[in-house]
Amino acid sequence: MDAEIIAVGSELLTPQHIDTNSLHLTEKLNNLGILVRFKTIVGDSTDDLAGVFRAALGRSPLIILTGGLGPTDDDLTRDVVAKVLERPLHEIGELRQRIQQRYARLGRPMPQNNLRQAQVPEGAEWLENRNGTAPGIWIEHKDNIIILLPGPPRELEPLFESTCVPRLERLGSGGRIKTRVYKIVGLPESEVDQLIAPLYRPFTNPTTTILASLGSIEIHLRARAATDREVETRLAELGDKIELALGDHVYSTKGESLEEVVGMYLVMRQRTIAVAESCTGGLLAERLTRISGSSTYFLGGAVCYTNEMKIRWAGVPAELIQIHGAVSQSVAQALAEGVRSRAGSSIGLGITGIAGPTGGTQEKPVGLVFIALADERGTQVREFHFPGDRDRVRYWATQMALEMVRRRIRD
Ligand code: AMP
Ligand code: MG
Repeated sequence: MDAEIIAVGSELLTPQHIDTNSLHLTEKLNNLGILVRFKTIVGDSTDDLAGVFRAALGRSPLIILTGGLGPTDDDLTRDVVAKVLERPLHEIGELRQRIQQRYARLGRPMPQNNLRQAQVPEGAEWLENRNGTAPGIWIEHKDNIIILLPGPPRELEPLFESTCVPRLERLGSGGRIKTRVYKIVGLPESEVDQLIAPLYRPFTNPTTTILASLGSIEIHLRARAATDREVETRLAELGDKIELALGDHVYSTKGESLEEVVGMYLVMRQRTIAVAESCTGGLLAERLTRISGSSTYFLGGAVCYTNEMKIRWAGVPAELIQIHGAVSQSVAQALAEGVRSRAGSSIGLGITGIAGPTGGTQEKPVGLVFIALADERGTQVREFHFPGDRDRVRYWATQMALEMVRRRIRD
């Protein structure tokens, strides 16, 4: 049984709001072996919604509409679905009571328009919403199952889990769909594809998608099978080959971020870390401290933006800056070693570079970044030339700094 999701709400067509409900629902549906074939976002317009809904009826056995079930005039989903299916709305006494009781409990008068939420199309079942007034609605109509869900995620998610998942399980498409994600750092997309294309080409199940995101490449394998075990076997059959081919470029197989993986290694090896950042302005410290529990290994960081602060806070010798310039191998090294000794950490990281778009020269162009890692074995400095705008250069710098730590403490 394939599914289609229709997200209703004019706000979802603005630059400010994103439809997250469909992502959540897709994951849950996939776990039930149901594939999402279409998604549409439509504004609060009767005609537009009716058109989208009619098209869905003709092509998708399972249709889930989210949003537009509230009490106000722009909440149209219930009315439009009733009209298209030619199932007039009628009031459910129990729903009316529940809504009235809810207001009584809150000690507030109930606006009359709230009673619209007590109406369901003829022949439909309503689904209890424990976190709001608008119930879900389940309709079996000819060859379609149609589910209406309230828009707020904190209402939709528990409602779908407690009422729809068991019903859909009973209907039993009987299958499972699972995804495995490999994250890679330090190899360009084309090279990744060259390495693994001969491996994945013979497979149609799992399917393989390669996605380049900022600072890493992701390989998504998606398999479909009758049971959990079979789906895992299929994923492993191709996944293990891919993992072997990419070797230590793979930093994550369970969705972890690079800072999470680095954090796990630091805990495992009982190491601590401190950072001195120039062009990344604290972004590396921010990423490291995103991880709950990072206080066990992250001692602190200094944003040494000016020359003066590099000298004062990280103990960079003034002559080094004079001779080599602030963006140089020697200054990166001095930042790493200086912050390590001042913080008393096992690892010190130093970053200095030119994030742009201004400040570049022929000799030291925008995107030039030096990253140093100091530990008890000595100091390693790498020179990078990152492409892209200021945000990208800064992010890449933190990404490669984390990658240097990962490689250093892994072996
Ligand atoms: P509605 O049920 O249309 O009145 O939606 C109520 C609220 O739910 C909206 O203001 C949004 O904040 C949220 N919402 C609606 N649709 C979605 C969606 N597809 N994804 C995430 N949030 C949503
Ligand atoms: Mg709405």
